[in-house]
Amino acid sequence: MSMEKTLVLVKPDAIQRGLIGEIVSRFEKKGLKLVGMKMMTLDEAILREHYAHLADKPFFGSLSKFMMKNPVIAMCWEGLECVNAVRLLCGITKARSAEAGSIRGDLAMSVSCNVVHASDSVENAGKEVKRFFKDGEIFDYKKTEFEHVYAEDEM
Ligand code: UDP
Ligand code: MG
Repeated sequence: MSMEKTLVLVKPDAIQRGLIGEIVSRFEKKGLKLVGMKMMTLDEAILREHYAHLADKPFFGSLSKFMMKNPVIAMCWEGLECVNAVRLLCGITKARSAEAGSIRGDLAMSVSCNVVHASDSVENAGKEVKRFFKDGEIFDYKKTEFEHVYAEDEM
């Protein structure tokens, strides 16, 4: 068991649809700790890195265009084994098949416009947090709520 940090993006479709608060609220209610948050406009360079695993897919061009349409909210959340916990909260990529109760399952219908991004492994989470945040943009503070979210031997 270890405290982890993970990257979440509130995607352009969610910004347009007024879902920022709803999405942030899901992570807050789960008991996660927000350690970084900013609005930013993505460019081709960052998207080429971020979606390198999709570079040769036919939809890569339209995906990049979608992600640059308007700003996104980048967030870094912290918690015990939270990379996996956040993926579960988000649901599977194809939103219309995502489990009800998950963010995508409740809030989206599309494969592309699926309202959130979340890091898919501890290794990638480390790289992605560094890609989207400078050192001084990640905050270290005590979240007293953790005393109630976790048992003593879990912290
Ligand atoms: N995507 C798409 N068409 C596809 C697969 C993925 O437009 O057929 C987009 C979608 O926005 C997805 C993102 O590319 O969230 C990254 O794809 P990945 O397979 O990493 O899915 P995720 O980790 O976001 O669930
Ligand atoms: Mg992914």
